[in-house]
Amino acid sequence: MSEKKVKKKSKLTRNILIALVSAIILGLLLQSKAEILNEYIKPFGDIFLNLIKFIVTPIVFFSIIGGIVSMKDIKKVGEVGIFTIIYYFLTTSCAIVIGLGFANIFKRVFPVIATTNLEFEVGEKVSFMDTLVNIFPKNFLTPMVEANMLQIIVGAMIVGFSILLIKKESQDKAIGAVEVLNDIFMKAMELILSLSPIGVFCLLVPVIAENGAMIIGSLASVLLVAYLAYALHGLVVYSFTIKTLAKISPIQFFKGMAPAIMFAFSSASSVGTIPINIKCCEELGADHDVTSFVLPLGATINMDGTAIYQGVCAVFIASCYGIDLTLGQMVNIVLTATLASIGTAGVPGSGMIMLAMVLQSVGLPVEGIALVAGIDRIFDMGRTTLNITGDATAAIINTERLRRKGKIA
Ligand code: ASP
Repeated sequence: MSEKKVKKKSKLTRNILIALVSAIILGLLLQSKAEILNEYIKPFGDIFLNLIKFIVTPIVFFSIIGGIVSMKDIKKVGEVGIFTIIYYFLTTSCAIVIGLGFANIFKRVFPVIATTNLEFEVGEKVSFMDTLVNIFPKNFLTPMVEANMLQIIVGAMIVGFSILLIKKESQDKAIGAVEVLNDIFMKAMELILSLSPIGVFCLLVPVIAENGAMIIGSLASVLLVAYLAYALHGLVVYSFTIKTLAKISPIQFFKGMAPAIMFAFSSASSVGTIPINIKCCEELGADHDVTSFVLPLGATINMDGTAIYQGVCAVFIASCYGIDLTLGQMVNIVLTATLASIGTAGVPGSGMIMLAMVLQSVGLPVEGIALVAGIDRIFDMGRTTLNITGDATAAIINTERLRRKGKIA
């Protein structure tokens, strides 16, 4: 990395950190002005998020096509895909076990909350077969318009593999065009990301002002348990995988990931964090073809933080209702929370909707979600941070594997 680039990056990291800290301080000081902050500061955060949403679909679409065509060999793409999915699945199962374990250890400190008069509307139940059918786009543009990441990934894979199968002359032209489009959107992304400190500040101040006082209330214990579990999973599981499978020092990894981590914490959106996550992983040495495939996939299907949250909240809600979960119910939670986290969209608040599915699967009252709904954003900031960190470990580990096998330089 050139010296100029390193300087630029550390300046951005420093500015995001300053924005984050000042947003927390100001938010706590201005708790009585939450409404005004929501009216006048949040819109600037929303503008920034709009720009991120604008850039994220072309980035994902073209970078996945770019990733496939530059790996050239179909077998190599398949190998990265299979390894990644197994890795995602194993780390998510580990996350939910940690979440459940922590919640059970600490459940005595959970308050018993009056459990009448709770209301929570359950959305329509989507069957497994419907979910499967919905992965495949039925229109070329709708996935982009709706930012349906899984459909965009499938569409990009079809186009990418088709480019590999057309005649050489057209293939070269297509690859050239994809590379140019990739460069254009990457540049646009860089411009938008340079606004991150302002975006982070404007997004976070109203959230802190609105929730600050509430955290001190009776929900502090469940939040603390969730954050402890997030931290344990991040610091122990990811440090272990990154150290053993990628031979990178965890300190170097977390330092390099700082901008993406702060961004995810403020935006609570894995999908919105894709661009900055790609940047951080590549600066840590991950290969562009790998990041452009593994990170969008991770932002869509790999949600370790969400899985932990679901485990902790399931135990919390059960204990508020005076219900003791059986071992069978816990196993059921591990399975459904792993699947639910795959189906969770990488946008703010979606994990809470999927919590309904987890509660239903073990026969817990879904209205219990109302107990934690008020502070969902605070849970969400932590779970999103963990979600994107897990995706990044997969990108770096995959790169290292391919390098060791001599498949990339
Ligand atoms: N906000 C999370 C994410 O974007 C998803 C969730 O709500 O759990 O990763």
